Amino acid sequence: MDTPREREIAAEDSIKVVCRFRPLNDSEEKAGSKFVVKFPSGGDENCISIGGKVYLFDKVFKPNATQDKVYNEAAKSIVTDVLAGYNGTIFAYGQTSSGKTHTMEGVIGDPNKQGIIPRIVNDIFNHIYGMEENLEFHIKVSYFEIYMDKIRDLLDVSKVNLSVHEDKNRVPFVKGATERFVSSPEEVFEVIEEGKSNRHIAVTNMNEHSSRSHSVFLINVKQENLENQKKLSGKLYLVDLAGSEKVSKTGAEGTVLDEAKNINKSLSALGNVISALADGNKTHIPYRDSKLTRILQESLGGNARTTIIICCSPASFNESETKSTLDFGKRAKTIKNVVCVNEELTAEEWKRRYEREKEKAARLKGKVEKLEYELSRWRQGETVKPEEQVNLVEGPDVITPIPIEGKVEGKVPDGPIPAVPGGGLMAGSLSNEERQKLEEERERLFQQLDDKDEEINQQSQYLEKLKEQLEEQEELIASARRDYEQLQQEMSTINQETESAKEEVKEVLQALEELAVNYDQKSQEVEMKNKEHEALTEELLAKQTALNSTSSELQQLRDMSTHQRKRSAEMLNNLLKDLGEIGVAIGGDENLSKCQITPDSNGKLEEEFTVARLYISKMKSEVKNLVQRCQGLETFQVDCNKKISEYEKELGECRLLISQHEARMQTLTESIKEADARKRQLEEDVDAMREECAKLKAAEQVQAVSNKEKAEEKEAATKMRMALEEQMDQLRDAHQRQVAALRDEISEKQEMISELKDLNQKFTLAHQQMQADYERLKQEEAEKSLKLQDLIMMNERREQARKDLKGLEDTVAKELQTLHNLRKLFVQDLQVRMKKTANAEDNEDDGGSLAQKQKISFLENNLDQLTKVHKQLVRDNADLRCELPKLEKRLRATVERVKALETALRDAKEGAMRDRKRYQYEVDRIKEAVRQKNLSRRGPSAQIAKPIRAGQHHGGGGLNVIRTGNRDVESPRS
Ligand code: ADP
Ligand code: MG
Repeated sequence: MDTPREREIAAEDSIKVVCRFRPLNDSEEKAGSKFVVKFPSGGDENCISIGGKVYLFDKVFKPNATQDKVYNEAAKSIVTDVLAGYNGTIFAYGQTSSGKTHTMEGVIGDPNKQGIIPRIVNDIFNHIYGMEENLEFHIKVSYFEIYMDKIRDLLDVSKVNLSVHEDKNRVPFVKGATERFVSSPEEVFEVIEEGKSNRHIAVTNMNEHSSRSHSVFLINVKQENLENQKKLSGKLYLVDLAGSEKVSKTGAEGTVLDEAKNINKSLSALGNVISALADGNKTHIPYRDSKLTRILQESLGGNARTTIIICCSPASFNESETKSTLDFGKRAKTIKNVVCVNEELTAEEWKRRYEREKEKAARLKGKVEKLEYELSRWRQGETVKPEEQVNLVEGPDVITPIPIEGKVEGKVPDGPIPAVPGGGLMAGSLSNEERQKLEEERERLFQQLDDKDEEINQQSQYLEKLKEQLEEQEELIASARRDYEQLQQEMSTINQETESAKEEVKEVLQALEELAVNYDQKSQEVEMKNKEHEALTEELLAKQTALNSTSSELQQLRDMSTHQRKRSAEMLNNLLKDLGEIGVAIGGDENLSKCQITPDSNGKLEEEFTVARLYISKMKSEVKNLVQRCQGLETFQVDCNKKISEYEKELGECRLLISQHEARMQTLTESIKEADARKRQLEEDVDAMREECAKLKAAEQVQAVSNKEKAEEKEAATKMRMALEEQMDQLRDAHQRQVAALRDEISEKQEMISELKDLNQKFTLAHQQMQADYERLKQEEAEKSLKLQDLIMMNERREQARKDLKGLEDTVAKELQTLHNLRKLFVQDLQVRMKKTANAEDNEDDGGSLAQKQKISFLENNLDQLTKVHKQLVRDNADLRCELPKLEKRLRATVERVKALETALRDAKEGAMRDRKRYQYEVDRIKEAVRQKNLSRRGPSAQIAKPIRAGQHHGGGGLNVIRTGNRDVESPRS
């Protein structure tokens, strides 16, 4: 702030140019490039020589110069300048990969490799931190790139074509560029990062892009002294230019070439501006030739401290480029800038200046009056003495310009208006009004210039659009031409096609004939198929009849089985009847024996017993017979089952045959359908062909008519046409009739097929029905056989019961035999004793009576024993009698079950049910008879039993009979 520069309002300051050589890079070393630059030793390190030519700069950095050194010696001073309110610019110029980006940016964040920008940013903030407290800073940054002469905002990708405007002090600036307020170096680096990433997103090849675009980083520092409200502002442009190499070297083409030209255009504009400025005599500086030069307007010959860093490669390969770069630097070195502090004056300052100006105006007014007075004297012809003349060389402040916000006019850019440094020299010849007018005019012209700029911008955009449209139109034209060619080709092909179509019609007619023949064949085939179908149906019928016969056979077999069953039932019936008779006979005999209470009845009884035994044995044999028959029936049933399974197999085969026939039928119908479809297709083709033929004929006729002018010929043609048409009509009619007939036939055939199909379906249904019936019958059969088994079981049980009964009877018979023997013995003994008594009655009364008494007691003992045995027997009999109802009950339960089964079966077959009922009835009857017989057989035992109870009171129930017997024995005696 307190630098001597600051105190000057405006000072001339030449642009600083430094030169930096990078080391040889890998590819250069590989290519064997030599280091062609020499750095003369000693001195200020400010000169280099290349190919014998020596260049002088403010500073020359050798390849081994560190980033820190470059910064300290080339850029550091700019920080203090910017903070003191000056504008600053640093830009790097040089061919691609000469180290521009390395110098300007380097590796941000790396303390050694970081370039000028990060160092400046850090330094600015460090300075601010070390300054007075009453200063307030506002720092904002912008970041944009210039590519193909378009300014693209790197902090807002939507802004792709920003324009350059001039502010009220005629300083150009990028209008609408995003400005970010920052308060720390980190924030600045974030902004840079963001800008770089946006730049990366927008382009595909970053290296190429960066070598063809200029990137501009702008730091705007504003400060205000809070004590005296003094405001300073400084703008710092940090520019990384595009590669300065010549287009020819890159070998670019097309758009790339356009780009290169554009880049070169902006760079050559920069070169032109620098040349114009270096010339010194030129009044017109072509800043407006490119956006780059517009932006750098203040930096080049304006109000800014500018440092140009020219970056060069030391390799022999790049020698020419290096030389041109060095020449550029040399030229730029001569440019002089006029720098001044950008100060916003405070109110007091303005007041002071106003007072000063007022005083000056008063002084000037007095002077003017004096001069006017002198002038009038001169005009009156008076000669004014030199000492009386007004001193014109008085007060240098008269020509002091009034600085507007500290800005001092430098060279006037672009304008036809002559430069007015100080303006005061013109003040003498121009009146205030004129001056003001001129000022206004200039303002207006500048405004117009800006407007024109804008217009040019718009026009160029419009031009671009038009170009695009033109390209589109050209493409359209090309496509239209292609279409036209295609159409022409199509036309020719169509013509060819018509020719071929004519031939085709002929062919089609032939094909039609063939088709007719084909159709005949097909119809024959259909007939054949129908015949086959009929044969199949007949076969089916035969199979059906076979099935019917099989089922009838089954029915017969079933009938036979029922018949057998009936017979067995009858036999059983007879047997039971016989048994009943036997029972009756036995009962009758017993009754007879009971009635005949004669002494010789004992022998008869024995006979009866033997007879009974005989009967029983007969019964046994009968039962055996029955069992054998049962077995025979079972084997017969097995046979039947076998037969049934055979029939089932046959049935399955039949079914398979049927399904095969069905499938065949389906394929036949399909083939018929296909033939149909083909026929229809051909018919359609024929129709289409005919239509085409008609069209062609019509065309031909039209042509013929137009061609033949003579009336006769015309007539002949018409006649011919008529004839042809007639013929055509006839043909068409015939064909249509034929087609109709064929269609009718087809429909008939289809109807027939559908009928046949229906029939087939009916048969299948009937077959299914029969199958179901068969299944049902089989089930019934199974149920019946189950029932038969039940009945056989029942029979067996009955047999068992009968056996038990027989055993009982045997025991009873044995007991009776023993009783009979005992009685016989007893009677004999009694007779012997009676005789003895009669003989010894007279001889030994006492002794005889004693022996008699002993014998009697012995006999009585015997009798007692007998009675006991009898009692035991009776008890056994009673037990058996108790068991008998149980058995009967069981039998009844079985019968009931059978009955239940019968009722369940009743619905299945009524005939069988009736038979079974009859059978049941018979069985019941037999049972009844058996019961009756049992009852009747029990008759005597009941007669025995009854007295047992009575006898129990009298001591020895059996005694009654014995007594009766005794009486019977005694009665003849008495
Ligand atoms: P430009 O921006 O001019 O196209 P770069 O700055 O990208 O060139 O440099 C090209 C390469 O050379 C980079 O890899 C960079 O690191 C390297 N380079 C440039 N200058 C130097 C130097 N002074 N010292 C070391 N390497 C350098
Ligand atoms: Mg670069």
